[in-house]
Amino acid sequence: MRWRDQRRSTNVEDRRGMSGRGIAIGGGGIGVIVLVIAVILCGGDPRSLLEQMPQQNQPTQQQPQARQNGKTDENSEFVSVVLGSTEDVWNDVFRKSGIRYKEPKLVLFTGQVRSACGFADAAMGPFYCPGDQKLYLDFAFFGELEREFKAPGDFAQAYVIAHEVGHHVQNLLGTMDKVTSAQRSAGKSEANRLSVRLELQADCFAGIWAAEANRKGLVEAGDAEEAIRAAQAVGDDMIQKRTRGYVVPDSFTHGTARERATWFATGFKSGDVKQCRTFE
Ligand SMILES: [Zn+2]
Repeated sequence: MRWRDQRRSTNVEDRRGMSGRGIAIGGGGIGVIVLVIAVILCGGDPRSLLEQMPQQNQPTQQQPQARQNGKTDENSEFVSVVLGSTEDVWNDVFRKSGIRYKEPKLVLFTGQVRSACGFADAAMGPFYCPGDQKLYLDFAFFGELEREFKAPGDFAQAYVIAHEVGHHVQNLLGTMDKVTSAQRSAGKSEANRLSVRLELQADCFAGIWAAEANRKGLVEAGDAEEAIRAAQAVGDDMIQKRTRGYVVPDSFTHGTARERATWFATGFKSGDVKQCRTFE
């Protein structure tokens, strides 16, 4: 990605090296972590799950991290550019529809963080909290994306951010509320199906961002493939295969690898919000 000469967003909130108030999500160990990753990876609603999990008071083990090393600063520069480019895209799309786009904040954290959706652990992966309209990101996830999910590259990382911003757009448009209230009266598999539709639309919205990034000359050869690889890698079927060894389609909450890549491509090729009809 050619990003260095691009505008930086001013909406990045750096909480790296700050403790999440010394409360850790306890109990369950690996099982909970796997479940949390499977359910929430990249932006499902973490509230329900967090509420179910026992919270223990524990002294925090976290040490403030030196953040002046080159790599980390490069990361935050990069994230500011990606967030800034999503602001440009969505300000424009909303303006054309006569609505004001309220830009979200992106919180960088290490280890644990407190959000309006509860306490979150880095193991959950990046997420969007509709309650405070903020995206939460621990850079450790990018390492995981590369090592565990075999989806390296800066454009893959940008896709993850653009996907979370997609959830913010859904929140502003009222789609998230509609889905949440429909899920309350739905059975488990219907609720999962709705969740998949929401996730796939966020992928499509990420594709729309990518189309605009492409027009602005940010995209280099191979970038779109990076993003598609990331979208596939975090598909429910891939995650379930990795963590359980078999696939249970009824429990999907994000969509399969193929669906995710397809909807990202739909947004990317059309650049048109109206094409992101994942609920139809
Ligand atoms: Zn998501």
